[in-house]
Parts: sequence; C-alpha cells; structure tokens
Amino acid sequence: MTAPVIGVLALQGDVREHLAALAAADAAAGPVRRPEELAEVDGLVIPGGESTTISKLAVLFGLMEPLRARVRAGMPVYGTCAGMILLADKILDPRSGQETVGGIDMIVRRNAFGRQNESFEAAVEVKGVSGEPVEGVFIRAPWVESVGASAEVLAEHDGHIVAVRQGNALATSFHPELTGDHRVHRLFTDMVRAERRGDAL
Ligand code: GLN
Repeated sequence: MTAPVIGVLALQGDVREHLAALAAADAAAGPVRRPEELAEVDGLVIPGGESTTISKLAVLFGLMEPLRARVRAGMPVYGTCAGMILLADKILDPRSGQETVGGIDMIVRRNAFGRQNESFEAAVEVKGVSGEPVEGVFIRAPWVESVGASAEVLAEHDGHIVAVRQGNALATSFHPELTGDHRVHRLFTDMVRAERRGDAL
C-alpha cells in the first residue's frame, strides 16, 4: 500500500518540524493552506503556535467549515499544543473571536502551566506508545480540565491531563515533533493507515 498522505495545517506555527516527523514516520507529508489541499489528505496535523491566530486565519482562508466537516466525517486529526486547543469542543478561557474546530469532548485551559513554568520538559508515559516514556516538551502549553465519556485520557503530567484521544482525533499538550522521537507521530500515522484500510476503531 502506498504511504498515507498527511497534511500539516500551514497557517502559522511549527509546520516544518511536523512535516519532518511525519516523513520519518513513513507518511507522504505536505502543507495544507487551502480547502482543495485539505480535500486531498488522508489525515491532518494541526501544529503548535498561537491558537487564536490559527483560528482566525482558518476562518479567513475559508478552512474552518471544511475542517469541521472533515473531522466530523472521521478524518484522522492530531493537534499539538495550540492544535490541541483547536480540537477541543470547549475552551475555558478563549480570547475574543477565538473559535475551535472541535472533535474532542474536552475542556482545555490555555497557557495552563503558568508563568513560573512557561516552558519545560518532562518524561510522559503515553498510552499506546510502548517503551521509554516520551520526552514531553511543553511550551506555554494548555492542559485538559475535563473530558467527556467518549474521550480517552492517554497521558497526565502532575495530575493534569496532557494527551487525549477520541475516535480518530488525537491531541497532546506537548510537542513530540521537536524531539527527534517519532513514536507519537507513528501512533498517528498508524491511525491514518487503519482508517484507510477501513478497520473498525
Ligand atoms: N499558548 C498557545 C496558545 O494559546 C499555545 C502554545 C503552543 O502551541 N506552543 O495558542
């Protein structure tokens, strides 16, 4: 079977690092800026960056509704940090004009780890990723305040939820694309392969 085609939403944020990590996980990766490009991918990564900016640009580029429609239809999607915020059904502390794509029944708190702890690294055990814990790079990261019944918590740090999966939607507070360890991207590309094969979840 040919490699799954995985897009990285390329409106703002750390697009290049995700493209490299996806390629290392044997996906055919490319940037997505237009609805026509979104229509061609088997799965999508929403990168870290600034969630309000990404949300406003998605509306401006006519991508917000197509994104919602594809996520609702079951396209595999993976959001890191700001991308996690975009996948939340609800933001506890949104900025004005900030919308989300939604897809995961969870409430996120932006910049949750606070000023003292703006950026840090921590070992994180992620369900579905075997071997050593993942090196979690947290940069003004959100955490998940609560999840609904259909969302599964995959990881916690200091008692706070930092990775969640609901069906074909995956989200992490941290940035695996910055570490050179591609196991989380491989977990996601496996989700995309399974969806292409038509496997039941
Ligand atoms: N704090 C940012 C936001 O609210 C997220 C930071 C990140 O993606 N590294 O969007």
